[in-house]
Amino acid sequence: MPQVVQKITKQIDEQQRYRDSIVGLDVKVPIGRGKYATEINLDNAATTPPFKAVMDDVHNFSSWYASIHRGAGYKSRVSSQVYEEARKAVERFVGADSELDSVIFTKNTTESINLLADVLAENNQNEVILSTCMEHLANDLPWRKRFKTEYVKVDEKGNLLLEDLENKLIKNRGKVRLVTVAGASNVTGLINPIYEIARIAHRYGAEICVDGAQWVPHIPVNMGEHHSDEHIDYLAFSAHKMYAPFGVGVLVGKRNTFEQANPMLYGGGAARLVSHDFIDWENPPDKDEAGTPNVIGVKALTSAIHQLTDMNMLEIHKRESDLIDYTIEQLKSVPNIILYGDYDNKKRVSVISFNLNGIEHSILAEIMSTQGGIAVRNGLFCAHPYVMQLLQISNEEIEYYHKNKRVQLPGMVRVSLGLYNNQEDIDQFIEALRKISRNKGYFLKKFK
Ligand code: PMP
Repeated sequence: MPQVVQKITKQIDEQQRYRDSIVGLDVKVPIGRGKYATEINLDNAATTPPFKAVMDDVHNFSSWYASIHRGAGYKSRVSSQVYEEARKAVERFVGADSELDSVIFTKNTTESINLLADVLAENNQNEVILSTCMEHLANDLPWRKRFKTEYVKVDEKGNLLLEDLENKLIKNRGKVRLVTVAGASNVTGLINPIYEIARIAHRYGAEICVDGAQWVPHIPVNMGEHHSDEHIDYLAFSAHKMYAPFGVGVLVGKRNTFEQANPMLYGGGAARLVSHDFIDWENPPDKDEAGTPNVIGVKALTSAIHQLTDMNMLEIHKRESDLIDYTIEQLKSVPNIILYGDYDNKKRVSVISFNLNGIEHSILAEIMSTQGGIAVRNGLFCAHPYVMQLLQISNEEIEYYHKNKRVQLPGMVRVSLGLYNNQEDIDQFIEALRKISRNKGYFLKKFK
């Protein structure tokens, strides 16, 4: 077989392997007038479908499922072992230190960041948190609730301004407890220079937390050595964005931080001994996991980690990068398109947001779904300040939206790819978009 044919055959085989790893890609959805189409899911930043291996592992493990830690039965011991092995799998996956870090299981990224904010707030001495203008609300509101919070600026293309970070660290010298930043944006897909940010933060005595919800599923991540100035002190992410949608989130971070503070949740499993006069807490991570833990969800996460490791995170990143570059090139040629963010920046995960001039974002997303069976997301993507800045919405307009609760909010449409999406998915999506752009009048009349 000629070399070029061999190469293409290998690529096709690999692509098929990725597609075969996912549940439900062949499911047909109604697209009106009694017709059905196979749904194309381009909303993977919200959540991903499960891996088949995850479903199989959950199913097989379910026969062995029992209460953990407190049970003496055989199945309890098996379940406890599965649960504790999951921490090891997470440590290896993100390069955490098994001696110095704790891997805490939560419900999702939101809960992980709330937990960290709560724990850090306990010893808060008027400290400042530096968040950024590109954060998901999960990495903004928990800090606002408990700390004086300032926001590092972004430029008009949505890139984080590191000079502003440094200026804010200088202005608040000695008072910044933590710099908290997204590994990658859920709006523009831009990847932040996390290790450089870590160096800057540490230089001023601050720690760094990375919201890894859109980072960990797409790129190899390494928290690094604790003594390194590039070390990531805290990392949060969600299993449901990693093909394991069973309600588990993760917070990894310095064990001594959790040793020194009370937990966010009080209850059984978190305490070693309690009288009416005292509480002896367990050591972390148990201390921060009060209540019956989600063992099945944790098993699902472990299974997804094994599958992702087997597929190779670098390979996944490369495949997704090629496909999002192709998507952006195709989008640029669609009449009336408005693309947001620094779409020429190659440091991105597989996310891009846009609008079609003259069609409201919610109508466009609805047409895509009901006419083409293409699932995208629209709105402010829980990153309201960032999206409103990219849309260049003035303060007066924001005030208007604030005061008028019934008006339709502004927004964008977002395409986000998973490791299983292929060029065919993108071609169909682009074709549907072209059709809508060409026949704007017709669609507007029909859908308004
Ligand atoms: N951060 C980012 C960047 C996100 O994209 C999301 C989910 N959209 C979250 C945090 C919150 O994740 P979860 O809903 O799993 O808590």
